[in-house]
Amino acid sequence: MVKENLIEVRNLKKYFKVGKNATLKAVDGVDFNIKKGETLGLVGESGCGKTTCGRTILGLYKATDGEAKFKGKNIYSFNKNEKKEFTKKAQIIFQDPYASLNPRMTVADIIGEGIDIHGIYKGEERLKRIYTLLNLVGLNREHGSRFPHEFSGGQRQRIGIARALAIEPEFIVCDEPISALDVSIQAQVVNLLIDLQNKLGLTYLFIAHDLSMVRHISDRVGVMYLGNMMELASSKELYEDPLHPYTKALLSSIPIADPKLSKKRKRIVLEGEVPSPINPKPGCKFAERCKYAKEICRKEKPKFKEIKEDHFVACHLCN
Ligand code: SF4
Repeated sequence: MVKENLIEVRNLKKYFKVGKNATLKAVDGVDFNIKKGETLGLVGESGCGKTTCGRTILGLYKATDGEAKFKGKNIYSFNKNEKKEFTKKAQIIFQDPYASLNPRMTVADIIGEGIDIHGIYKGEERLKRIYTLLNLVGLNREHGSRFPHEFSGGQRQRIGIARALAIEPEFIVCDEPISALDVSIQAQVVNLLIDLQNKLGLTYLFIAHDLSMVRHISDRVGVMYLGNMMELASSKELYEDPLHPYTKALLSSIPIADPKLSKKRKRIVLEGEVPSPINPKPGCKFAERCKYAKEICRKEKPKFKEIKEDHFVACHLCN
């Protein structure tokens, strides 16, 4: 059965004015869909625009251009009621669970804040809902009366997840939810997110720079570089047969358990630094670091096109 798209992003741009004549092109025309119940992983080095992209899709930033549709309707043309409904249906889990939790509030009040704003549950029902949520994320009702500083990093992220789930969302942007956690805890949080998705039918945009964890949770993965989507394919396809030179370089640096694949893959060291996204040069954004760059790469931006079924790439080399 073909699942419908919950999120559709078309030519999305988010620019920031910096100084008098400079423009920072954080997101510079990206296209993708996320199907209902699916996890789309979004990866790339820091500064590639993945977090800005996630926040713009939630309407936390106003898009400079393009569309982000939720259930077929552009979120930037929502009326007041639709906006309110959307803030219930679309939530975010932040990278730093400590900074995002108010240290003066009890865990129960942190989780209950969204419930109160939207007036979904009151009195006994509200408390019951908070206990259910604590349970759902692997905590218990006693934890509700404590404060964030009394918890470990992993537990604090569980509180952040419970808060995001409080008002029964359908779509969650997981903004690097495991980057600030110890490696030993990361898998637990990822497994919890997978478990919750199975139980509640959630749809995720999972933003990360750790490629191995992204593979574990994502159905499909998109690779961003300097505000552009360079490649997008199913996790399996992307990890086994990457086509874009940037994806190949990123993947070459992660260890592979399969000895056959490992033998095939050579470590590719990227030369230079990620260029500034302020007033970027025309053409392919990766050209300055790409060993295959030709004249056309510096003049013409490659189109993001479908090279194989459900495998999209933006590179003049791929036809
Ligand atoms: Fe490299 Fe050119 Fe492809 Fe860009 S378009 S990745 S510069 S070959």
